[in-house]
Amino acid sequence: MMRSVVKKDPRREAFDYRFHAITLARQIGEYCSYCEIPVRGALPVEHIIAKADQSQFQNAWGNLLVACNPCNSNKGTKINQASAALRWIWPVMLPAPAQGDPVIWPDNQFSYDCFAYRLGGNQCEVSSRPGIDAGLATRANRTIADLKLNEDRRIECRTAARTAATTMARWLAFNGNDHNTPACLKEEIVATAKAMGFWSVWMTVFSRQMEGMGVSDLRRQEVLRELFVQTFPGTYPDTAFPSTAGWP
Ligand SMILES: [Zn+2]
Repeated sequence: MMRSVVKKDPRREAFDYRFHAITLARQIGEYCSYCEIPVRGALPVEHIIAKADQSQFQNAWGNLLVACNPCNSNKGTKINQASAALRWIWPVMLPAPAQGDPVIWPDNQFSYDCFAYRLGGNQCEVSSRPGIDAGLATRANRTIADLKLNEDRRIECRTAARTAATTMARWLAFNGNDHNTPACLKEEIVATAKAMGFWSVWMTVFSRQMEGMGVSDLRRQEVLRELFVQTFPGTYPDTAFPSTAGWP
């Protein structure tokens, strides 16, 4: 589950894509659009269709996301022209990832549904989500392989986020006997999630925790879901907690 994001049109088009950095940060947050690691300082603007391939799209808002250095350099110009053309025909908010597009994009509505995070084991690997359609699984796996999402600091930081999320989900469980989550605990969860990034990992861990606790209190689940969805800018608003049954 790569966080699905929604970009709104900027107030004005820019003649240089760098001027879109602040708007991107406000709209979709300071996180890599692919691996979800936090990016600090100057926001690295990502071209979905590489500048080197199709320079005419280099300043176009619809072609921009945020990417950390490893994701950006691994992606390079691997996304071939055919894929780039498909991506360009349906730039945002598809009902499902485009037919024939070999990879998954986070500003497609359902990128979130295509990935799973390893909840057990030493490292928090990302994989295609069990049970999805074979074509989508192939594309999710290619996205993971092309971007090398299970390597370097990205997997280490993802694992650290999983550890922090697990700890906080336990705190939540200890405070879970009434319908309300204490405000200070909510604030702590949000502050830690924002600082550590990897929104999808937080959603996954909290979903598992609620399954384990048998938390069937729908209102409480909804409060938590809104907390994660609303505090990470640009998250597709209808994103629900995943069912993590059968995940590694
Ligand atoms: Zn990244």
